[in-house]
Amino acid sequence: MYPGSNTIDGSNNERLGSAERDVVALGIAVAALILFVGTGGTVLPQIVATWLGHAQNPDVILSNALLLNIALIIFGWRRYAQLSREVAERRSAEEKAHQLAQTDALTGLLNRRCFIPAAARLVIDVAETNQGAAVLMIDLDNFKQINDVHGHKAGDVALTEVARRIEALLPINGTVARLGGDEFACVVPYERRLPDKLDQLAASLIEAVRAPIQIENKEVEAALSVGIARTIENPDPATAEDCAQSLLHHADIAMYHAKKRGHNGYAWFEPTMESELRFRHELETGIRAGIPKGEFVPFYEQQIDLVTGDLVGFEMLARWNSPQFGLVSPEIFIPISEDIGVIAELSEHLIQQALLDAQKWDSNLTLSINISPLQLRDPWFSQKLLRLLVESGFPPHRLDIEITESCLHENIGVVRSVVTSLKNQGVQISLDDFGTGYSSLAQLRSLPFDRLKIDRSFVTELAHEGANAKIVEAIVSLGRGFDLPMTAEGIENAEVLKVLRTMGQLKGQGYLYGRPEDANKTFARLKEKRMLAPEVQEAADRADALAAENASSAEEDQRAMG
Ligand code: C2E
Ligand code: MG
Ligand code: MG
Repeated sequence: MYPGSNTIDGSNNERLGSAERDVVALGIAVAALILFVGTGGTVLPQIVATWLGHAQNPDVILSNALLLNIALIIFGWRRYAQLSREVAERRSAEEKAHQLAQTDALTGLLNRRCFIPAAARLVIDVAETNQGAAVLMIDLDNFKQINDVHGHKAGDVALTEVARRIEALLPINGTVARLGGDEFACVVPYERRLPDKLDQLAASLIEAVRAPIQIENKEVEAALSVGIARTIENPDPATAEDCAQSLLHHADIAMYHAKKRGHNGYAWFEPTMESELRFRHELETGIRAGIPKGEFVPFYEQQIDLVTGDLVGFEMLARWNSPQFGLVSPEIFIPISEDIGVIAELSEHLIQQALLDAQKWDSNLTLSINISPLQLRDPWFSQKLLRLLVESGFPPHRLDIEITESCLHENIGVVRSVVTSLKNQGVQISLDDFGTGYSSLAQLRSLPFDRLKIDRSFVTELAHEGANAKIVEAIVSLGRGFDLPMTAEGIENAEVLKVLRTMGQLKGQGYLYGRPEDANKTFARLKEKRMLAPEVQEAADRADALAAENASSAEEDQRAMG
């Protein structure tokens, strides 16, 4: 029977069955026909004879029986025809419902529900020919971006085209399903001696999908990551579904690893990947739960004018104070927060705290904050930042946004409009980690940067004279050519500082001046240097004086008691 029918209407099968079984109607029609032949054979000659005037009126009972017969034939036949039509209509509706229940409405591929049974069937079938089965999990890397930038309609067209391209490359007996969103899975047979064929399949899928997709008059490029898992031995047919399920799970883990390595790649499942994934899930859960609990806190790194040696501002660097993992580096949690889509929320929370902290500092001190490339692609980013500035009352000209070169490669149009709007608000813009991201001179000129930050990988090497000193010199003269002030990151010792001082007017930061510190330690440092905002400094001095007074009176009390 058709499994899909139960999902539409549980009583359908029964009704359809009874309709099909309604041979009674046909039986009545056939019986009536036989009777008609019997009675008609007697009555009809009598009627004809009567008309010709050769005989008396025909037998009334027989004539009535004949008429009843005719009525029964008409009724039986019509009923039978009607039922047949009804059965045909229901059968087609049921087939449609069945098909709908099995397929994905957008792409026409199998859906998630049907993938495992299909994969299990293939696992059993190929085992008979001593072949193996493999699952390839496919996930688009940039689908959200396609949707955001070009709209949902374009996203649908892209998904349909990707489905078509995957389908075109499937080997005989292979099946592909859309598991949901931008996730597809294929199950394919393979020769156990030739697992390389699966590498080739993954590579050609990537190649085919990355070719530009024409949507109306635009071209969209989809990138994808593929994970591969295969059966090594023939599974027991009784456990074929479990086997298919674990193939899918393993392919998913491998796909996730491929994604981590970058766009348009594939990876084979390896058992160690599973524990890594578990750890990653723990981090993800921890990040999501930690944001509202205030576990993410700003630390501050001093920024110094290298000529005068004065403290001129701080760079805010995020830290995760996790009860489970301890103090976690942003290099771990920022990329994960980007992946799981919480970077904007996390950053907003940190900026809010940093602006409150920086309100207490001397009005000459600047605050630099790092912004993820993803945030810059949000056309509302500048409005959100403006709201935070207004709420805190922090002057925009003291805020410096650091963006990395990777921002310049994708969606330069949106980035430019966000940057321009930030500049219009008076916010300063710095290009962070300069020298690592291959930005072209044209890109540098096209955005209104206020400062370049020379990446620390060049700066830390400065002590050992050689190639890197030349690189820093080249970067500094490039910056001068663009008339842009510069900050050198990663100054770790006095030798490096000495070399940098010969290169003209620079700002700098690094462990030579101290490690990044939390808000309290930064406050204490500024209090010591008398670099807090005047009213905050006064209040701090008063609090200190009061504390000193209390301490001395407590001492006196103790002496008096002693
Ligand atoms: P970045 O903006 O280039 O920050 C400088 C990094 O270099 C910081 O690492 C800092 O602690 C480190 N550093 C500073 N001086 C020295 C030095 O003398 N020697 C060495 N070896 N390292 C030094 P951190 O705090 O681990 O931050 C790493 C990166 O994480 C940052 O690089 C920044 O790109 C990103 N990041 C930090 N906070 C945030 C944030 O709130 N939002 C976003 N989107 N990214 C952030
Ligand atoms: Mg930075
Ligand atoms: Mg940097």
